[in-house]
Amino acid sequence: MSNERGSNPNGIPSSTASPLPRKGHGAGPRQKQKPKDMLGTLLKIWAYLSNYRGRLGLILILVLISSVLGLLGPFLLGYAIDRFIGAPDHGGLVQLIVLLACVYVVHSIALWLQNIWMIRISQQAVSQMRKELFQSLHRMPVSFFVKRQHGELMSRLTNDMDNVSSTLNSSFIQLSSSVLTFVGMLGMMLWLSPTLTLITLLIVPLMYFGMKWITNRTGKYFKEQQRNLGDMNGFIEETFSGQKMVKAFSQERKVTAQFIEKSERLREAGCWAQMYSGFIPKLMNMLNNVSFAIIAGAGGLMAVYGMITIGVIVTFGEYARQFTRPLNDLANQFNTFLSAIAGAERVFEILEQDPEAKDEGQAMPIHEIRGEIRYEDVSFAYEKDMQTVSELNFHLAAGQTAALVGPTGAGKSTVIHLLSRFYDPDEGTIYVDGVDIRQITRDSLRSHMGFVLQDPFLFQGTIRDNIRYGRLEATDEEVEQAAELANAHSFISRLSCGYETLLDAEGSGISQGQKQLISIARAILADPSILVLDEATSSIDTVTELKIQEALYRLMRGRTNIVIAHRLNTVRQADVIVVLENGRITEQGNHNGLMDKRGFYYGLVQSQFEEVIV
Ligand code: ATP
Repeated sequence: MSNERGSNPNGIPSSTASPLPRKGHGAGPRQKQKPKDMLGTLLKIWAYLSNYRGRLGLILILVLISSVLGLLGPFLLGYAIDRFIGAPDHGGLVQLIVLLACVYVVHSIALWLQNIWMIRISQQAVSQMRKELFQSLHRMPVSFFVKRQHGELMSRLTNDMDNVSSTLNSSFIQLSSSVLTFVGMLGMMLWLSPTLTLITLLIVPLMYFGMKWITNRTGKYFKEQQRNLGDMNGFIEETFSGQKMVKAFSQERKVTAQFIEKSERLREAGCWAQMYSGFIPKLMNMLNNVSFAIIAGAGGLMAVYGMITIGVIVTFGEYARQFTRPLNDLANQFNTFLSAIAGAERVFEILEQDPEAKDEGQAMPIHEIRGEIRYEDVSFAYEKDMQTVSELNFHLAAGQTAALVGPTGAGKSTVIHLLSRFYDPDEGTIYVDGVDIRQITRDSLRSHMGFVLQDPFLFQGTIRDNIRYGRLEATDEEVEQAAELANAHSFISRLSCGYETLLDAEGSGISQGQKQLISIARAILADPSILVLDEATSSIDTVTELKIQEALYRLMRGRTNIVIAHRLNTVRQADVIVVLENGRITEQGNHNGLMDKRGFYYGLVQSQFEEVIV
């Protein structure tokens, strides 16, 4: 059998996705976090930015130019007043106006260029990070996903990366320009008039305490607003995904009332948060005006006594009005900056996780397998000291079918997880065609395996794409042939868009049975040597059920099959029935042999009046 069969670029087992339970998608509201190791994280971000060192240097020069030009404008204005009032010089005035215009134009160009370059650099760095994060997630062992909420992981790829990206866009420039402008302005002010500088500085503590008073209040309301928003979003998601239940239990009125209550709470918190935060610019403006008035008054007085010129007062007034801006920018930027660093930390946390254990040094890809399987003294525990399966021993010749039966939690799925190498046994060995599966690369082992699960995995795309997932290079004809063999062709043809019908991840729009048929078609197309089948327990209408059974028998023919069996019919026809209880094999053999034994299996069959067992 060819190695291409069922292989896919993600290394996901052929025909369908992992047979592991999936956790909920709702990430829930996430509070803004403070970084744990700011310096360490900044250095890690720098590792991505350092590829663009040259361009970052140019940006810094541009920031320096724009900051100096920003300071030069008010200075030239003051100079013009002192120089030309009282001693008109038209030529000089025109020259100065042209110079001023040039200063403002070059200032704007420098700002524009630094923004564009920074956006490019940050987008490239973040795109690289996002790519690495995605690759890294795909290298994680299955246990990593079992322990985490999918929504939470998705939020790292989207929200956190977004935060890092937008902060990189603006923070680097903003922080450096704020610091430069502040230092430059302070220097100029001290040079022009230390007394007026002192008066201007007096306003700073007032601003600081005013801001602190407001942010203390807004912080509380913003947090509440976030929490209420998260709560409301979760509620909306829950009621939409549980629409059928809401309708079936006539809960529409109740959920609407609950929604209104949550929405009211959000409105209340939102109102206060917006009101307080809207107050910040007003307060700043007021304090700025007060400071301007004090400077004008004190400066005027000093001018009367000849201590300074009118031009200096104008320059000073302009600087004083702008003086708080870099402080303000720094304060605002700092919060966003902190939350972006915290986001980056969450991203690096995954990038630094141990990926799925590498294939052993001597592991080789396997190109063809017959499908003989042997478990030899296999023991395994998910959690230390809680043995899940112990001393499993069974043998399955190529082309045979094994039925795993046993009570819930007995370890049936674990047997399969070990064969797929989602986990490796703690003790003992599993052989495929006589080769220890640890000596086979994971990708190549999984490319020979197909999975048909109780709740088939469908993704957003057409029915054709969903079937083709089994073998990406299959032609349209091959896809349709597989659907035909899976008894899916007739229902697909009846759909108005046929094979081009779009499915979503939930597979809404088609029935549970039809989903199964699609996943069987996918497995037929993948043509694996070893088939893992988890029989559905949910009842499906008799006609579809028969179609599924027929398609499954067709699929199983000529392969080695391991079936987590729920139907007596399947069990009866299996070559080897493996009875698992509390992680141990208590009985094994064929139907007749086990019935003769009159043990657990016998009791199980006897106790079932219906066809479906366990
Ligand atoms: P069912 O018929 O209900 O699917 P099963 O026979 O397939 O059950 P397993 O899913 O193999 O049983 O689980 C065997 C035991 O291992 C159970 O006690 C289960 O709680 C535990 N278990 C399964 N997966 C994990 C995991 N990822 N981490 C920790 N324990 C687990």
